[in-house]
Amino acid sequence: MDYDKTEIPTMYDKARVLAPETRRLWQDLLSVHIGRAAVSLIIDLGCGTGRFSELLAGHFSAQVIGARRVHYKCASCGLSEHETDAVHCKPCGTLLHLTT
Ligand SMILES: [Zn+2]
Repeated sequence: MDYDKTEIPTMYDKARVLAPETRRLWQDLLSVHIGRAAVSLIIDLGCGTGRFSELLAGHFSAQVIGARRVHYKCASCGLSEHETDAVHCKPCGTLLHLTT
């Protein structure tokens, strides 16, 4: 299955949109723990469709590299692409052993 050719990314973003107050909460929390000047490059592991990547780039005025998938063939269903932080295969639930 080619994830990008489905409606899943669009639906995911619509379902998980960050409300303005939620964005402000995240930015406030980031400001408390990380100085803006200390960050110039962010690796957003498990970025999904990038909904936090844009927030991070704007907040820190930094370059963000999103890594959303790793190639690993599921022994049960054969799916070969998974989120970088996946523990289980989404379609079949098989435990994955990703070594990213
Ligand atoms: Zn599977």
